Amino acid sequence: MPLRPLFRPLVDFALPPRCPICGVTVSTDNHFCLSCWQELDFLAKPWCSACGMPLVFDHPGESLCVKCLATRPVHDGVRAAVRYDDLSALIAMRLKYGTRLGLARLIAEHLQKYIADCPDDAVIVPVPLHRSRLWSRGFNQSVLIGRELARNSGMQMDQDVLVRTKVTPPLRGMSGKQRRKTVNNAFALRPDAQKRLAGRPVVLVDDVYTSGSTSNACARLLKKAGANQVLVFCWARVISDSENL
Ligand SMILES: [Zn+2]
Ligand SMILES: [Zn+2]
Repeated sequence: MPLRPLFRPLVDFALPPRCPICGVTVSTDNHFCLSCWQELDFLAKPWCSACGMPLVFDHPGESLCVKCLATRPVHDGVRAAVRYDDLSALIAMRLKYGTRLGLARLIAEHLQKYIADCPDDAVIVPVPLHRSRLWSRGFNQSVLIGRELARNSGMQMDQDVLVRTKVTPPLRGMSGKQRRKTVNNAFALRPDAQKRLAGRPVVLVDDVYTSGSTSNACARLLKKAGANQVLVFCWARVISDSENL
């Protein structure tokens, strides 16, 4: 007896899939409606090979933005799905504060196209949360994204190589120097990190890339443990107009 066709409309009626941004009914769960999809600023090449900042012109070989020409980041590149703005921030907030955990799947799907940039033996390492935050929130949004990426790509995830030793205040509004000071020493390596990472490329997963201070602090440690490359994957990247050269 085919129960499914009878059952299906009831489920759909109870929980119609909705656009995770504006809430209008959509045909598939965790998909944006056409209007929000058109509003989101999906990032694409050309971008700075070191930090992912969109560039106006594509150059043959390595293209660097003005900032990275002066100082290269510690990590080896950023792959962000979208520009950070009010709409993409809403997705990051809803994932972070747990109202829409399925959003990790949506974010991972948007990052899937960058898997081709990762060597086959890359290890996914989510940016860790401090245990007090983990306790109050119950999950780490970067682990959720990393888990979905691992499932879609077949890459291994290791959430035990890095630990957050300090609770850091929000970095927004701080100068570059203040940010570095705040996040330096906020992370540490687990004792066996070297054994797990030596000679391997790492995909560092975070929800939002702001100034790169957090990614650089993590990348510095991952490289100390022997990682030969650290590529940052994130949902949204902050792009300030003054930097966008
Ligand atoms: Zn919408
Ligand atoms: Zn750059």
